[in-house]
Amino acid sequence: MQRAMIQIPEIVRIKPGALRRLGLYLARARHTKIFLASSQGIRADILEKVRMGFHENGISEIGGSAVADNRLEFATDILANIPARTQAIIGLGGGKALDVAKYVASAMNLPYYAVPTSLSNDGFCSPQASLVLNGRRRSLHTRLPDAVIIDTETVLEAPIELWCSGVGDLVAKITAVADWKLAFHAKGEPVNDFAALLSDATVYQFLARPGHDAEGVRLLGTALMLNGIAMEVAGSSRPASGSEHLLSHALDSITDRPRLHGLQVGVATYLMACLQGNGAVRSIADLFVKAKFWETVAADPFSKAEWLKAAALAPSVKGDFYTILSVRDWLPDISHLIEEDVFLKRCFTA
Ligand SMILES: [Zn+2]
Repeated sequence: MQRAMIQIPEIVRIKPGALRRLGLYLARARHTKIFLASSQGIRADILEKVRMGFHENGISEIGGSAVADNRLEFATDILANIPARTQAIIGLGGGKALDVAKYVASAMNLPYYAVPTSLSNDGFCSPQASLVLNGRRRSLHTRLPDAVIIDTETVLEAPIELWCSGVGDLVAKITAVADWKLAFHAKGEPVNDFAALLSDATVYQFLARPGHDAEGVRLLGTALMLNGIAMEVAGSSRPASGSEHLLSHALDSITDRPRLHGLQVGVATYLMACLQGNGAVRSIADLFVKAKFWETVAADPFSKAEWLKAAALAPSVKGDFYTILSVRDWLPDISHLIEEDVFLKRCFTA
């Protein structure tokens, strides 16, 4: 058994008004000279709230960048321009800004504050940054954030598709953990019980109260964050990513129009849960009804042909990563489910 040091966020604030208080949290931690990496085109009122809090608490923004893309070259460019006096790096906004900021902070070994303004996936607190290297998306290992600050009011104002995407990425933990256990039985791949438990528990906490309101945001934010920590505990992405992610990654590689990560992953989760004979199939379907997930996907349905192509590709996407898809050829079953399942058939065009 390996003993690893794990590092987890020490400051966690998930509450209304947290953006305005970011300056206060920084001041308390004595991080008064900061570099702010925010999403390009971020709402002006969000930046204004944050800067008002900086002003009130004596925080100086000694450098900053509007992040438009997540290419590695762009991240190294920022890296080269971080002032020497910088005491902390703040990632504010959407996925790309947070990935770039996390990578830069990790490379410079500076404290990192993750401040997502929507909850569309579990990337804001994972031990990886998703960056583009030579035109291909790669997950690079990073430290976890030192602080996670989520303003529940701001997240509620984000488009509903982003919320649905976060819900989709969360339920993936159900099939991911089932795949992990499958890999243990088939291949002897060790399962970290605590990480699996943590991953499982967070989903069920949200399932019990999945409303799109301040409390729902708090539960979803907490759950996605704890999943990042489960990955750190396990030292792999196993607690958060299984066959459903393979399918989504395969789809990304063949489609001209990838959709939000969690929308793809959510549909794939339901599909994989059906193949696994997973006892949670019903709960996933019900949750997606309550979260308006199905109707959001049905408004802009997927292509069945693309999904079948992706399903054929998925088992080999990550080498010998054992999942339900490794067990046998499931294409006829997947095709049948897409056509006949009462929930799935609304999500696809021929
Ligand atoms: Zn994901």
